[in-house]
Amino acid sequence: MILDGKAPTGQVDTSWDKYREEMKLVNPSNKRKYKIIVVGSGLAGGAGAASLGELGYNVDCFCYQDSPRRAHSIGAQGGINAAKNYPSDGDSIYRLFYDTVKGGDFRSREADVWRLAQVSNNIIDQCVAQGVPFARDYAGYLDNRSFGGAQVSRTFYARGQTGQQLLLGAYSALSRQIKNKTVTMHPRTEMLDLVVVDGVAKGITVRNLLTGEVESHWADAVILATGGYVNVFNLSTNAMGSSVTAIWKAVKKGAYMANPCYTQIHPTCIPVHGEHQSKLTLMSESLRNDGRIWVPKKAEDCEKHPSEVPEADRDYYLERKYPSFGNLAPRDISSRSAKEACDADLGVGPGKRGVYLDFADAIERVGQPMIKERYGNLFDMYEKITDENGYERPMRIYPAPHYNMGGLWVDYECSSNIPGLFVLGEANFSVHGANRLGASALMQGLADGYFVIPYTIAPYLASIKNPGAVKEDHAEFKKSVEDVQAQTDKLLAINGKKTVSELHKELGNIMWENVGMARSKESLTNALKLIPELRDEFWNNVKVTGEGKELNQQLENAGRVADFLEFAEMMAEDALNREESCGGHFRTEHQTDEGEAMRDDENFSYVAAWEFKGTGVKPELHKEPLKFERVHLAVRSYK
Ligand SMILES: Cc1cc2nc3c(=O)[nH]c(=O)nc-3n(C[C@H](O)[C@H](O)[C@H](O)COP(=O)(O)OP(=O)(O)OC[C@H]3O[C@@H](n4cnc5c(N)ncnc54)[C@H](O)[C@@H]3O)c2cc1C
Repeated sequence: MILDGKAPTGQVDTSWDKYREEMKLVNPSNKRKYKIIVVGSGLAGGAGAASLGELGYNVDCFCYQDSPRRAHSIGAQGGINAAKNYPSDGDSIYRLFYDTVKGGDFRSREADVWRLAQVSNNIIDQCVAQGVPFARDYAGYLDNRSFGGAQVSRTFYARGQTGQQLLLGAYSALSRQIKNKTVTMHPRTEMLDLVVVDGVAKGITVRNLLTGEVESHWADAVILATGGYVNVFNLSTNAMGSSVTAIWKAVKKGAYMANPCYTQIHPTCIPVHGEHQSKLTLMSESLRNDGRIWVPKKAEDCEKHPSEVPEADRDYYLERKYPSFGNLAPRDISSRSAKEACDADLGVGPGKRGVYLDFADAIERVGQPMIKERYGNLFDMYEKITDENGYERPMRIYPAPHYNMGGLWVDYECSSNIPGLFVLGEANFSVHGANRLGASALMQGLADGYFVIPYTIAPYLASIKNPGAVKEDHAEFKKSVEDVQAQTDKLLAINGKKTVSELHKELGNIMWENVGMARSKESLTNALKLIPELRDEFWNNVKVTGEGKELNQQLENAGRVADFLEFAEMMAEDALNREESCGGHFRTEHQTDEGEAMRDDENFSYVAAWEFKGTGVKPELHKEPLKFERVHLAVRSYK
């Protein structure tokens, strides 16, 4: 099937204005007749729930943490992009739009990216009004710093805690609505099924994580803002609870999964340091504003203390290969270069999977106090984890799974292919193409939540003749509760020999080795053989202790890993189908002589949207062709 993204026709520059002028509205006094479920209370869900509540809709918001304040968004460090052009260095909406399309290696929908760039400026105003303490310069103006893939400074930040401050802003907006009773918050609740009645999303089934109770909730529309799935690699920078579960349940009910193979491996993370590690730590990309990345030129220098490697024997490989962007080359390119250096036996630190991030020059230039002011909490975090002082000795970093550009397929209105199901933030695929630029995820989450969905959901709601007509007494809701309960009982009954985390680790190894930073037909075929074998083992040999009717984190994790074990296959299938290299998807068969990604625009300039056909059955591929009218397709170069 050929999918239609429903992007407005005509000039992309005015497409969002035109859309808003022509869209159907819901009368203010009718809004309270509609009930909307928002699953997720991170930046996308929190902002969406607050904004829809403010508009007067009845909103039920769900999250599995004990408070919306603890959503994974709180971990975001470096900053949020906007095209304000405060430093007067040449930025504009067009430039942010262009950088994002190019950064994504020309695999995103133009109109969605334009809208993102356009509303980016509103986000900053909104957050400042909420009291988000963005960094300011000496004169009191909002300060900016640079992130990868851009030659302007457009990143607004609050030290290395931008996500936390933005989430507190969204949470305060949400709290206002909770007090006004337009939003009802359901913390400690995990969505385990989407209820679809006659092809339309009508509710969800959840498990209360404290009591184990399984119950359904109806709504006129369901919004998923459930974050990312790179924990499919087991070790990643994401929160431990981040999972594919919510969107995978939607896939199993007919929603299409778009570009699942586009995952971002972030170049600046603390290297793996042990067998029993369960999480990796990101060192924000903002550090590359001042830190210089290098490895020794000679393998025999790799064991030496970095200060003993003379300047002439160091390879500042990003500055050498990409002189115009240098250490701020985009993430996919920087990650691959680090891998190349380590594969060439030039890595440093234990296991030799590490490269240096060195602040000596910056400290000499601006002094340690200034570096501390800019990134102090990141240096503290590095020292706590590695017991090394980043001011005195270069940090060691290595790429790690970080973000998924893929997600549920949505059209311009953030609507999935199931009517009534909308998807926001990292959970959808919409704007980042095959590679996301730094500081653009927070921008997307807040754009979707504050400025897109409050508009784009209205035409759908206005089309519903009888709001609230389908409720929990419908047979589909009852069936959904029974199915969720049956899966929980099944997991508890297996009583095998391996723990959930052991099996998750095995899946992670399969994915990292075969579907990781470099992929080939051979490795992907291997993954497609190994994943179903591991899935079989999971369902015959996993041991989940405890009971269903209590707080049971093993049971929660077992359900999430069970979903990863199905989703992983679709991810490998997508990577195998995409016979080109683009952004974070690097097929070793498709590279230039210099090792750069080689796109195939003629055959692969499309969004791959996969339809689930059953566990272990090859999914069906649908395509949304991508058109580029405002930018010209070009070979992506940062040299
Ligand atoms: C360490 C780190 C640093 C980062 N730094 C930056 C940065 O500086 N700039 C930037 O732009 N981006 C950054 N990112 C990326 C960015 O933080 C995320 O992409 C973004 O916060 C995702 O927001 P979200 O609202 O889509 O999802 P999340 O914040 O992940 O929220 C997901 C929500 O969904 C809920 N949920 C999930 N599944 C279920 C379920 N089954 N049932 C019920 N509830 C569910 C969760 O409880 C949560 O409330 C960083 C990411 C990491 C990991």
